Amino acid sequence: MDQTPFDAPETAEPVEIVHAPPSPAMGQYLELKALNPGYMLFYRMGDFYEMFFEDAEIASAALGIVLTRRGKHQGQDIPLCGVPVHAAQDYLKKLIGLGHRVAICEQVEDVAEAKKRGSKSVVKRDVVRLVTAGTLTEDDLLPARASNYLAALAMLRHGEADFALAFADVSTGELTVLPLTAAALADELARIDPAELLLPDAVRDELKAMRLSLPSGQIVIMPAEAFDSVAAAATIATAFPDGSVDPSAWSRVERAALGALIGYIGESQKGVAVALRAPSSERLAAHMAIDAATRSSLELLETQRGTVKGSLLSEIDACVTPAGSRLLARRLAAPLCEAGPINARLDAVARLADETIRATQLRGALKAVPDLTRALTRLALGRGGPRDLNAVARAVAAAGELSRMLAGLDDAPAELAAIGTTLATAPAALAAELGRAIDEDPPLLSRDGGFVRRGYDTALDAERALASETRAVVAALQARLISETDVKSLKIRHNGVLGYFVEVPAGHGGKLLEEPWRGTFIHRQTMANAMRFTTAELAELEGRIARAHEKALEIEGAIFARLVAATLGETDLLRAVADALAGLDVSAGLAHLAATRGYARPVIDGSLSFDIRGGRHPVVETTVKAEGHPFVANDTDLSGGALWLVTGPNMGGKSTFLRQNALIAILAQMGSFVPAVGASIGIIDRVFSRVGASDDIAHGRSTFMVEMVETAAILNRATARSLVILDEIGRGTATFDGLSIAWAAVEALHNDTGCRGLFATHFHEMTALAKSLKRVKNVTMSVREWEGEVVFLHEVAPGAADRSYGIQVARLAGLPETVLARARQVLGVLESRSSGNSAPMLDDLPLFAAAPAPKKPEINPLTDMLDQVRPDELTPRQALELIYELKKARDAGRRS
Ligand code: ADP
Ligand code: MG
Repeated sequence: MDQTPFDAPETAEPVEIVHAPPSPAMGQYLELKALNPGYMLFYRMGDFYEMFFEDAEIASAALGIVLTRRGKHQGQDIPLCGVPVHAAQDYLKKLIGLGHRVAICEQVEDVAEAKKRGSKSVVKRDVVRLVTAGTLTEDDLLPARASNYLAALAMLRHGEADFALAFADVSTGELTVLPLTAAALADELARIDPAELLLPDAVRDELKAMRLSLPSGQIVIMPAEAFDSVAAAATIATAFPDGSVDPSAWSRVERAALGALIGYIGESQKGVAVALRAPSSERLAAHMAIDAATRSSLELLETQRGTVKGSLLSEIDACVTPAGSRLLARRLAAPLCEAGPINARLDAVARLADETIRATQLRGALKAVPDLTRALTRLALGRGGPRDLNAVARAVAAAGELSRMLAGLDDAPAELAAIGTTLATAPAALAAELGRAIDEDPPLLSRDGGFVRRGYDTALDAERALASETRAVVAALQARLISETDVKSLKIRHNGVLGYFVEVPAGHGGKLLEEPWRGTFIHRQTMANAMRFTTAELAELEGRIARAHEKALEIEGAIFARLVAATLGETDLLRAVADALAGLDVSAGLAHLAATRGYARPVIDGSLSFDIRGGRHPVVETTVKAEGHPFVANDTDLSGGALWLVTGPNMGGKSTFLRQNALIAILAQMGSFVPAVGASIGIIDRVFSRVGASDDIAHGRSTFMVEMVETAAILNRATARSLVILDEIGRGTATFDGLSIAWAAVEALHNDTGCRGLFATHFHEMTALAKSLKRVKNVTMSVREWEGEVVFLHEVAPGAADRSYGIQVARLAGLPETVLARARQVLGVLESRSSGNSAPMLDDLPLFAAAPAPKKPEINPLTDMLDQVRPDELTPRQALELIYELKKARDAGRRS
């Protein structure tokens, strides 16, 4: 006979094993599990979410919680583990982070209702929500300062575009659709970097055939029907019941992507409508294309180690609100490609950078702005609480204040003026109502009440008074009973078992059971030295208190519901306000950055110039300065399609120089000031940045193969408007292969593409290209030699490096002197050989001859003297004398 853990009572109490046939609860569990394939089931039992079978094994390992076994199913032990409901959020976060998907199954009726249907019936349960990486709405589960995208990729063989990508941030309601060609797919997936990507099988196969690597988030393969473009029209229409969205406004393939996305979101919330914003369309051409390799090599949103710290984003993020940071990240991920909109953004930044006092005031006021969009989404989903209403009130109040501040700005640039206008429309009456109703610092959940201000609702105040003024009422009753019974030590007390009761010393107890009190005092308990009674009046009072509490909760619930409805009625307006607040935060933050870091406004136009004066690397500048060194600024001029070949020793600053130019271009086109004295940039359509030789072992491709695939991508896709940065490509292969390919690539970019570009190379042979290609120029990182050591000046100067200083660098790195000496010897032979002296290599190179014996440590009088010195014990005069002595000793050493 099987026994299951489901025979347990529906409470959190330790569960007893009851011997019973397979319980109906087990049937319910298996049914729900079967209905939600691919999900772990959090099965609610009392105060716990329990997991069973394989789910339990996975969860216990992943969460480090105890796995137990209880009962049997088909003769096997049933593994089980559980997490308390109040702590479920943390566990969910961990499971989602590990790539699991969780179905939350709640009791949808209470135990009493179930019992009414018969003593054996199970409490009804249902899956109320599917929690996946792309559908999160809770602040605890989400990164505050980053967007969290769910995306759906559709493909059609016969449409205006082959592909369409729809993506949404469920936590903010943002929804976008974008038609795509196959060629642009990888770049856009890298930009949006979805936490979860929905695809039909066919698309996955297609991506495989294209050898396109999928983004790092979760991939969910969906049935083809989910992407049906006909069904999609209906799905879209249902999601926007007010008719504001016309499905026929999109192409078939866009509709398919939107339909799949909206359908999946709806399914995940199990019938609760997600308040998505009307889908906005994007045009590919409006954005600078930046492929995945470039994003990663330039460390735009995160470093190659995967941290935000050290990325360009963290360097430039001076936003004071989470929504501002999210918008900044979106702008940085997608710089613009049209001078008009870029300059509009720059106008706003410039104005605030000029008016530092006003900008500081604005930023001060923005600090008080809570995360309005996410609060709205939670309220719409029925997952909101009093704090979310409070957030709405505070955001609207701040919007009013900010709009007044902006109104003081004469001749405001268009973008700031528009923000001011929007902020002025913030629903002040609603905010005032919310402010009157909700406490300053309310609890997270509305369930337990206690968040409506005193004085807001008279009925509520009356009920609360009754509940809270119990003390006075009880004291009055006690005084009256004392005087009536003449028992001076009579007390009214309260405990969890009896509730309110009258207590008198044992000696007086009998009196209360006799006339004239017979019937008034009902005996409840006899203790060693006291007797306890209740009275009808006391019972009535107790009932009233309990009812008052319940009534108060009910009234608060109704007030909450009314205020939520009123707030949601203003959703469109509030969202516009939230966007305006985020936009203002971004402009003010960038202005602050510009003013404090000495950034300059770039000149953006339709030319082909790229003229940077005094450019700096925003991130390296900060690190170098933190170490107490100055950062050396450098000019770049690639106007008209120039290609600069950068040579110079390792550690000379080549990579830094290359990247700073790409970062300046990206910052400029996202609408930010740039770390330079001045910059003139003709719109750049794509940035390519490649760094040679880092083995992509994870993907099982050799360095050379990786480099060639990437070089091919650049040669095939760069245009005359592109900026190409190649940092020592060809490094990953035998000298002549690498050199010849790098050579041919530069020729092709110069002759066919005509792009602007910077190439760092260690192939000195390549500097000869400057003679034959008219727009190729050689520059080198200046170095000074000083007493046999190299000093890097980090200055870009015309010309080519005559040598690589590799041995000097090796010495700086601490290679043993014997190895360095031997290296110098080998280098000498190699150099004489390559300069036409073609003596046979092996003979020249005493490779197999005895290496020079390691030098015995020299006896050096200077070192000996220094060893003796105790600086702490020297007077200034002795120190000076010591210096004379040291010099004398050295001179003696030189002469000998
Ligand atoms: P390379 O690519 O030539 O080997 P890097 O660009 O990696 O050299 O630079 C090496 C280090 O030199 C950097 O980490 C930084 O500390 C320093 N550096 C580079 N450029 C500059 C500069 N312009 N000013 C000051 N320090 C610099
Ligand atoms: Mg380098």
